[in-house]
Amino acid sequence: MKILVPVKRVIDFNVKVRVKADGSGVELANVKMSMNPFDEIAVEEAIRLKEAGQAEEVVVVSIGPAQASETIRTALAMGADRGILVKTDQTVEPLSVAKLLKKVVEQESPGLVIMGKQAIDDDSNQTGQMLAALLGWAQGTFASKVTLSEGSVDVTREVDGGLQTVTLKAPAIITTDLRLNEPRYASLPNIMKAKKKPIDETSPETLGVEIAPRLKVVKTEEPPQRQSGVKVGSVAELVGKLKEQGVI
Ligand code: AMP
Repeated sequence: MKILVPVKRVIDFNVKVRVKADGSGVELANVKMSMNPFDEIAVEEAIRLKEAGQAEEVVVVSIGPAQASETIRTALAMGADRGILVKTDQTVEPLSVAKLLKKVVEQESPGLVIMGKQAIDDDSNQTGQMLAALLGWAQGTFASKVTLSEGSVDVTREVDGGLQTVTLKAPAIITTDLRLNEPRYASLPNIMKAKKKPIDETSPETLGVEIAPRLKVVKTEEPPQRQSGVKVGSVAELVGKLKEQGVI
């Protein structure tokens, strides 16, 4: 079975994000970019299934500018077999990403798509669900455990107040949650090997998908500055202050 893993290039999670002066978005120039952390978990899970002999090939796909091939290369260094870059310099919204991924799925016929539950830049948490709907496939979102069987896959999901296990008929879409696994670091020999792994390039036009945005960003703002705290000398003083401020 083949596993397809969509990976997004996003601002590195350690970077302090700055809003552009004109409020049109966040500053991307000269900012460190990395693979979306939930996608690293998806790549790791796919590789583990391959290592366990339950998958034959792990294919990663990224939609984005030429630099997204670096993100694909990272996944190849972790152990994925080959990559596909859907190259575009435009902003691609979740519905367009899902439509593009549907085309890639039709070309590649994977038995499983494992992807992040959300991209940490836009926090949309939409693409996996939309892709499942477009394909008419089963979906197991927020996965914390994945167990493959013949023709089906059990996904344990993190839901409010506990865990829920669903059995999906394959092929299916799985979106990863934080506790599914801990992604490996790529070793130096694997980084070298990854340089020789193939990355095919295509485009939204070639795939026949219209990616014009449907959303307009009205404004982007920094969160309000946090007020500095004060130390109180006693519980009575604390209660007094809370009453003063109408908190209690
Ligand atoms: P989102 O719905 O934007 O929060 O993204 C959920 C997941 O969809 C991500 O974790 C990725 O696995 C996938 N995804 C979103 N955007 C892209 C992209 N441009 N290229 C590849 N995969 C993507």
